[in-house]
Amino acid sequence: MFESTIAGSLPKPSWLAETEKLWPKWKAEGPELQQAKLDATLLWIKAQEDAGLDVIGDGEQSRQHFVHGFVEQVEGIDFEHKVEMGIRDDRYKAMVPQVVGPLRLKGRVHASEARLLRASTKKKTKFTLPGPMTIVDTVADRFYGDRIKLAFAFAELLNQEALALQADGIDIVQFDEPAFNAYIDQAADWGVQALERAAQGLTCTTAVHICYGYGIKANIDWKNSLGEEWRQYERFFPALAASSIQQVSLEFIHSHVPPELMSLLKGKDVMLGVIDVASSQIETPEEVADTIDRALQFVPRERLRPCTNCGLAPMSRAVAIAKLEALGRGVALARQRLA
Ligand code: ZN
Repeated sequence: MFESTIAGSLPKPSWLAETEKLWPKWKAEGPELQQAKLDATLLWIKAQEDAGLDVIGDGEQSRQHFVHGFVEQVEGIDFEHKVEMGIRDDRYKAMVPQVVGPLRLKGRVHASEARLLRASTKKKTKFTLPGPMTIVDTVADRFYGDRIKLAFAFAELLNQEALALQADGIDIVQFDEPAFNAYIDQAADWGVQALERAAQGLTCTTAVHICYGYGIKANIDWKNSLGEEWRQYERFFPALAASSIQQVSLEFIHSHVPPELMSLLKGKDVMLGVIDVASSQIETPEEVADTIDRALQFVPRERLRPCTNCGLAPMSRAVAIAKLEALGRGVALARQRLA
C-alpha cells in the first residue's frame, strides 16, 4: 500500500553542475563529465533508498534539463544556435534549440544511467522522459510547421527510447507533460494521443506526470493568478482515464486543485503530490499523512501512490534530502494509521 516515488529530478551536486538552477552549466567535460553524472546518480539512488522510497529513479543527473536532455540526442535539431522563446503559453522565456530537419535518434539517449539504476537497486525503478507536447513547447520549429505533426514525430522517437529502457529492465516509464496544464484543450484534443503513441507497445508500467511547474518565480506568479480553484486537470483527465496510460501524477499539496477531480481518474493509479516543490519548508510526517487522508476520499487506497508535486532539481541538496525523508516518514505514518 502507498508505493512511494518522486516526480523525477533531484538537485545536481556542486561538483557536477551549477546549483539551484533550471539549466545549470556542467562543471566537467568529456569522460570526466560522464563519470561525474553516474557518480551523482549513485548518490541519489542511495538517498532515495535511505528515505525508504519504494520506486527509485536516476534523479535526472545525466541531463542538463528534463526536456533538452532528450532533444540533444536527436538529429534534425540545431543545438548550436538556440533562440529565445516564450514557453508554456508564454509564461516564461527560455533559450531553446531549433528543429531544422527531419527528426531521428542519434542512438540511445539514456542507456548508461538506466542500466546503472537497474544494477544499483533491488527496488522497482522508474525512468522519466519528456512528453511529446512538452518537447514541442520547448523547441523552436523551423521545419515541420505544425505542432501536432512535430509532436507525433517526437512521440515516435520517445517510443524507441522507452522500449529500450524497458529492455534495460526499467519497471515504470513516465512521460512528463507539464505543458498539458498550459494548453488544456490541446491536451485533450491531441496531447493524450501523442502520449499514447510514445507509450505504444510498452508492457512495463506507463505513467504521466502533469504539474504546475518547478518552484521558480514565473510558475509561482502564474499559480497566484489562477484563482481559488485550479480546474485545469478537469479538461483532460477524462481523456487520460480513457487512455492506456496506467499512472497519473498530479500536483496536490499546497495547491488549489479540488481533490474531487481525482475521481475523474477511475481505473488509474494516482501519484499524489504530497511534497511541495515551491517552498523550502520541510513537510512534517503528519502533514504528508493528512494529505494522503484527504485524497483517500476520492482514490482507492490500493491506487494511491504518494509522490512529490514536481521535480526537486532547482532546490538545494539539503532541502531535497530532507523532503525525500519527509515523504518516506509521512508514508510510513499513513500506513500505520490504516494498519
Ligand atoms: Zn513537474
